[in-house]
Amino acid sequence: MLGAGFGGLELTTALSEQLGDSADIVLIDRADGFVFGFSKLDVMFGRTVPEAVHHAYADALKPGVRFVQAEVTAIDPAARRVQTDAGTFDADVLVVALGADMDPEATPGLVEGGHEFYTAEGAFALRDVLADFEGGRVVVGVTSTPFKCPPAPSETALLLHDFLTARGRRAGSEIALVMPLPAPIPPSPAASAALLAAFGERGIEWHPNRRVLRLDPARRVAVFADGSEMAYDLFLGVPVHRVPSVVADSTMTVDGWVPVDPLTLETAYPGVFAVGDVTSVGTPKAGVFAERQAAVAADRIAAVLRSEAATAQYDGVGVCYLEFGNDEVARVEVTFVTGQAPTGVFDAPSAALAGEKTAFGSSRARRWFGRPWEPV
Ligand SMILES: Cc1cc2nc3c(=O)[nH]c(=O)nc-3n(C[C@H](O)[C@H](O)[C@H](O)COP(=O)(O)OP(=O)(O)OC[C@H]3O[C@@H](n4cnc5c(N)ncnc54)[C@H](O)[C@@H]3O)c2cc1C
Repeated sequence: MLGAGFGGLELTTALSEQLGDSADIVLIDRADGFVFGFSKLDVMFGRTVPEAVHHAYADALKPGVRFVQAEVTAIDPAARRVQTDAGTFDADVLVVALGADMDPEATPGLVEGGHEFYTAEGAFALRDVLADFEGGRVVVGVTSTPFKCPPAPSETALLLHDFLTARGRRAGSEIALVMPLPAPIPPSPAASAALLAAFGERGIEWHPNRRVLRLDPARRVAVFADGSEMAYDLFLGVPVHRVPSVVADSTMTVDGWVPVDPLTLETAYPGVFAVGDVTSVGTPKAGVFAERQAAVAADRIAAVLRSEAATAQYDGVGVCYLEFGNDEVARVEVTFVTGQAPTGVFDAPSAALAGEKTAFGSSRARRWFGRPWEPV
């Protein structure tokens, strides 16, 4: 099992539940612990501290699972052989859940003149930057598609509004949100309409269909793919996403991502599955989709190991929670089925849904790490 993120944690947990001690699962990740994506925003806006959102893999030990902290350096999918800086591993079944890597250097000027908030390091560093920010023009900008958790830039703009308001700095500030999409959440017109209304009420500028190509730090302007420009005092960027280089070098990718059977999560290589952000399965890159794909892959792997017919199929359903500010959260359930237009069901922001989001995080922490946890 390569990668101990949303996909890898759910897959090993589900397989361990089904197979118990008879499982011989090796879970490999370079990191020593996991951070939920939404926790990055919580730390960035000072709602919690980095130590409180780090889940150590040492706590994730399940029957039949061995965690190895190592860098995966080569994958041979035909031989199901993996090289790491802790040795070579041969697998009967190989699952690739290595996620998407961030590449801030791909956007000229972003590292020197802006900040990214999609890695834990970037978001945690922004905590101090925002705390010291005296006010001015803030641009939240996206540099490429696809990008993880499409609602996250909208959530960032709304949480930033609350953050600056609480510190008496909103009047001296402007917030602009720039995205290469026509709507904040294209599969859900209702969610998009609610977000656009919230932006309007709060004076947040919305700039659709524009992609940030580069920053010019000397002039403090963002330059868009269409050649137009926008001034900023503080730039919060979503960097270019790519498969990890070890996946790119593995011959598993087509057009930059790993293709899989959308119902079974199998790759073109026998006995090799891929789940989550690393794939081009057709769902957004978000933890809830990775998790549900992992559950299906686990069922199918367990069935084959028991010499039974594998029947579980992926349904493309995911429930996303959207921070609207004012301690309210909305929910959108989206369904992606290959060959059909995606559909979405939207529940308006409320304090009750904020509680449901907290319960979502707590339940995963309990399931994967066996301990109680409150996200904020
Ligand atoms: C700001 C923000 C907010 C978000 N909010 C939400 C949300 O509210 N809900 C939601 O569902 N999703 C959210 N997401 C998206 C979510 O975090 C990801 O989509 C999800 O983590 C993807 O799961 P995954 O298992 O595919 O990959 P990941 O969780 O990224 O896991 C991949 C793992 O592979 C490891 N790895 C990579 N390369 C190597 C290598 N060469 N060697 C060893 N290990 C390696 C990494 O260390 C990592 O642990 C958010 C993301 C961001 C950035």
